[in-house]
Amino acid sequence: MTNNNMYFVANWKMYGNQSSISSINNVIKLTKDKKFRKIRIVYCPPFTLLRSFVEKTKNSKIYVGAQNCHYEIEYGPHTGFINSKMIKDSGSKFVILGHSESRREGDQDKIINKKIKSALSSNLKIIFCIGETFNEKKNNQTKFVLNKQINVGLEKIKNFKNIIVAYEPVWSIGTGIIPKNVELIENINFIRNKLNKLKNGKKIKILYGGSVNSKNIKNLTAISEINGFIVGGASLNSKKFIDIIKKSIN
Ligand code: PEP
Repeated sequence: MTNNNMYFVANWKMYGNQSSISSINNVIKLTKDKKFRKIRIVYCPPFTLLRSFVEKTKNSKIYVGAQNCHYEIEYGPHTGFINSKMIKDSGSKFVILGHSESRREGDQDKIINKKIKSALSSNLKIIFCIGETFNEKKNNQTKFVLNKQINVGLEKIKNFKNIIVAYEPVWSIGTGIIPKNVELIENINFIRNKLNKLKNGKKIKILYGGSVNSKNIKNLTAISEINGFIVGGASLNSKKFIDIIKKSIN
């Protein structure tokens, strides 16, 4: 497969401080290598590090993204929150929305839809996460859940140019367990077919996220339907992250 223009999204979750930033030096160096010039690396550190990451990566081809935002487009009295305008103002270009850890904290499909619209109006690229829980999988509800998350999350959105969908089975995040290839292909194809039915939905990239590491990456990159990866835990260690990137590229 042609996988040299794949996405590699590093989701740092609630980890990292100022002294962690230098750990990405090796990743910046990697992006200068011709072999990796087409890949797209997006670092999503906590809000507190966004600006520092933007500064750090300014002469490289690494993008920076936030991990969530408030749905309100305008500034306002929302103590403790950050909106898409503020993320844009930090110099970041991406935002992760609908991550299962944010859904766990209360983000529901309708709110996620409002957040996506707000982020689009701020001209950010959205990494829209969807995925079923273990119970939903066990009860054969995976497709029902994916269908609903896409229908409601993308409701009344017409332009998908800035939207990337990430399939992240909740039971796979941080557990070391990944879906079997046949299951993954079936679910990714289900998402693909659904997105293809949207006007201009064919161009939407689909990423996979959930316990990606340097041991399972070869197997995952063999699935040509996957256009890139969200890497949580393993992205905190730049050596492991680089290993994943190198093993993904032919
Ligand atoms: C994630 O947080 O999106 C993720 C995929 O985490 P992990 O790689 O740690 O499973």
